[in-house]
Amino acid sequence: MPQFTDTSAPGTCIFCRLIAGEIPSAQVYEDAQTVAFMDIGQVTQGHVLVATRRHVPTLLDATPEEAAALMRTAQRVALAARAAFDPAGVMLLQANGAVAGQTVAHLHLHVVPRHAGDGIDFTWPRKNPPASVLEDTAAQLRAALAAR
Ligand code: 5GP
Ligand code: ZN
Repeated sequence: MPQFTDTSAPGTCIFCRLIAGEIPSAQVYEDAQTVAFMDIGQVTQGHVLVATRRHVPTLLDATPEEAAALMRTAQRVALAARAAFDPAGVMLLQANGAVAGQTVAHLHLHVVPRHAGDGIDFTWPRKNPPASVLEDTAAQLRAALAAR
């Protein structure tokens, strides 16, 4: 079980320190709101992290502009990966909170190029509830969206 890096104080956050240049990283891209750099652990060739420049623990804490900027940068990086490595596809992965598997509490999106035969299998146990349960859940989400 990876240890959750609680980084409530920006000064102690590994990604904040990396963005500030205090920790070396292989940077790929930066703009006003986001920074993209190589993950030190490469799941596949070209595995990049796209992070918010500001210290935001999870997507749930980001502004709408930061959320949009994160995706825009991920697309730029994915397009660059396509040009550079010609992958078969690209996965975008993101976890919110320790229970969800987040290990660094600074919002980031993983851009993971997929190559034919790379053998990565992302599976987890699924339940297949009846359609009525799906419709009830959808209605709850629609209501929550409308209430915002
Ligand atoms: P998470 O598990 O939070 O979704 O992803 C955290 C990622 O940060 C991991 O994939 C890990 O390899 C990467 N990481 C952790 N420390 C460093 C570091 O010091 N430099 C870089 N470039 N990546 C890091
Ligand atoms: Zn941070």
